[in-house]
Amino acid sequence: MTQAVVAGHSRLAAARRVVVKIGSALLVEQSTGRVNRGWLETLAEDVASLRKRGQEVVLVSSGAIALGRRQLGLPAGKLELEQSQAAAAVGQIRLAHAWKEVLEPHGCAVAQVLLTLGDTEQRRRYLNARNTLTTLLKLGAVPVINENDTVATAEIRYGDNDRLAARVAQMASADCLVLLSDVDGLYSADPTRTPDARFIDEVPRITPEVEAMAGGSASDVGSGGMTTKVQAAKIAVAAGCHMCVAAGRESHPLRRIESGERCTWFLAEGSPVAARKQWIGGTLKPAGELVVDAGAAQALRQGKSLLPAGVVRVSGRFDRGDTVVVRDPDGREVARGLSAYASTDAELLCGRRSSELEGLLGYRGRDEIIHRDDLVLV
Ligand code: GLU
Repeated sequence: MTQAVVAGHSRLAAARRVVVKIGSALLVEQSTGRVNRGWLETLAEDVASLRKRGQEVVLVSSGAIALGRRQLGLPAGKLELEQSQAAAAVGQIRLAHAWKEVLEPHGCAVAQVLLTLGDTEQRRRYLNARNTLTTLLKLGAVPVINENDTVATAEIRYGDNDRLAARVAQMASADCLVLLSDVDGLYSADPTRTPDARFIDEVPRITPEVEAMAGGSASDVGSGGMTTKVQAAKIAVAAGCHMCVAAGRESHPLRRIESGERCTWFLAEGSPVAARKQWIGGTLKPAGELVVDAGAAQALRQGKSLLPAGVVRVSGRFDRGDTVVVRDPDGREVARGLSAYASTDAELLCGRRSSELEGLLGYRGRDEIIHRDDLVLV
């Protein structure tokens, strides 16, 4: 076993939160257009083992279109957008059902989450989706995510679940993303055309040469070739998440990765927490300010969340999810963070206790005005 393989094995085993993307070509039997049930059961066993070790698992599953097209009697070959959407509407039910059937016997509740490009790119929707995913994981469920194909138009469509999976990994602050595919990883050239193509175990940095290696090798059933996988890797590694492309055809595909079967690892730049904090602290333009009392400023410096009770003044116009600057009573910047409330609500809640919030708002919002995970000290 080489060094890289040993390290790869430990990357999956050591991850706290793992996103696994399953391609249509694996999940759907090409000859029958049905769910590859036996194989799926072995994957569910692997997922259950990860969870038994205390790891959290999010699945991004393709297959809706492939499952639905047969039932609707659509022809083989490329479908029109509307046809794909219709097929997805039919197939998604089967897909979600298949996951429920294989995971529930292991005591895992399955949650269906359908996302569009906008849900992962517009901050407010992104934060909502992130909160829901986090809550599902906290409650012990396994989210099974797919693109919401039926509502996505050509412009707002991912079209491939590789990039969707990378966005999900970023959104969920996952530390490991596994793309299970019908190829076993990245080669120095297309192995179907270049017999002496070299297998790449590890990609420490995505250089133009790496991108050139990816070329175009789309499989028949899914839509993501190696190019979309490298694009996905760029998103994942920048979010502090290791990404692995591995062959998933055989049974127990995750166990195989852990036991050292060859696959390509794209190595994370930093950690998910560092990446997220950098995103909050550096890249966003603050939309408003919260002045807090001395007690709250001190609590923040000790790593606590910001509660409405500690806020003395709100300025600027901002929405839920916008970045705000937090200042102490002397006007010094203490932190930046994502506000859980719009400025109008924040003004209302300013100085109030958590127990009063529901009465003031008319709904049950978050206890914190900025959760510590969404806060960066300066
Ligand atoms: N969302 C599509 C489906 O479930 C698949 C897209 C992909 O495989 O990349 O059928």
